[in-house]
Amino acid sequence: MEAVIPLVMELVHLGKRVILGGLDTTFANEPFGPVPNLMALADEVTKLSAVCMVCGNPAIHTQRLGQSQELVVVGAAGLYEARCREHFQPFVDENQSEQMELPAVAQ
Ligand SMILES: [Zn+2]
Repeated sequence: MEAVIPLVMELVHLGKRVILGGLDTTFANEPFGPVPNLMALADEVTKLSAVCMVCGNPAIHTQRLGQSQELVVVGAAGLYEARCREHFQPFVDENQSEQMELPAVAQ
């Protein structure tokens, strides 16, 4: 996927206007391929949001609904949902889920 960066820069140096679109983070909320680097090289970045499928607020995350750990799982409805920061839950390994839970707050 990183091969796109030299291609884009070559086009830019040829005077072409290059417009790209893509997700900047993975289902695990990690930088997604070349997109963060392309954003850093861009003259202009417009970061869009969707609508959270839980509460309706602006959603900046992609919630994977299945348990696959593959970086890319191609699919449509039923595999991903737009989620806001509050409702986004990065992939959690079921074997480690107890370690991910926050401790109860003492009263
Ligand atoms: Zn939400």
